[in-house]
Amino acid sequence: MNKKKVMIEGAMDLETELLIASLEQPRESMFGSWRFVEGMYKDIPLVVAVTSIGAANAAAATVLGIEHFQPDAVISQGTAGGHDPVLQAFDIVLGKKSFDASSYRTVKEEKADWRHMELMGAFAYDQHTGTFAPQAVYASGDEALLAAAHKAATGYTRGRVVDGCIASCNTWNRQQERLLYFHESFGSSCEEMEVHSAALICRQYAVPFLGIRIISNTEFSDEEFQPETATVCQKFVLNVVENIV
Ligand code: SAH
Repeated sequence: MNKKKVMIEGAMDLETELLIASLEQPRESMFGSWRFVEGMYKDIPLVVAVTSIGAANAAAATVLGIEHFQPDAVISQGTAGGHDPVLQAFDIVLGKKSFDASSYRTVKEEKADWRHMELMGAFAYDQHTGTFAPQAVYASGDEALLAAAHKAATGYTRGRVVDGCIASCNTWNRQQERLLYFHESFGSSCEEMEVHSAALICRQYAVPFLGIRIISNTEFSDEEFQPETATVCQKFVLNVVENIV
């Protein structure tokens, strides 16, 4: 039986090095300024996309990767900062949901209270109307990929693995009150910069998608960015792809 081809994305070299080193017969390509490495992991065809940091890069690399490699599934993985105060470094969040934390509207007020924000869905292509239209605030992770991640979770020893909600936008927030506000008001578990934009592109192409993020830093236990988490996350993701049926 032919195994499904999975494209695994990571923003930084430290988030993709182990994946690339795990490939047999690696073949490199550059599309625009984005690097892709295709190869086999055991009997699974993989494409590793080095997207660089942020929403625009993640979206561009996702489009290019889907167009050129036609993957059966896409995983955006890497590091994230904690929103849920219970989570600690090395805990892993499976993106049951994601949203764009920079996409909000406020009420009209002379004196601003930043809490007065209502999330908005991003504009994305709507197959039904054939136009770009505002979407639901939250995008859902693919159930079959989530099931594979749950299987991989049973062997994970470095922390917890939880189903959660990933807040994406090009910010690095270190204000506990604001982090907690997002967690309590919008249900976010963690923040990072790529998952939701990749999720939107995959939805437009009808490619199953899942965000998988490891907590690399959290203000609630005063943990600074821990680079080792990026390596641990990649090992976990290789386990996830082995469990895709
Ligand atoms: N070494 C870099 C850090 C990376 S920038 C520096 O300090 O400049 C941010 C990257 O890490 C993004 O790809 C994002 O997805 C992830 N990330 C990890 N923790 C984050 C946080 N607390 N907030 C936002 N992004 C975070």
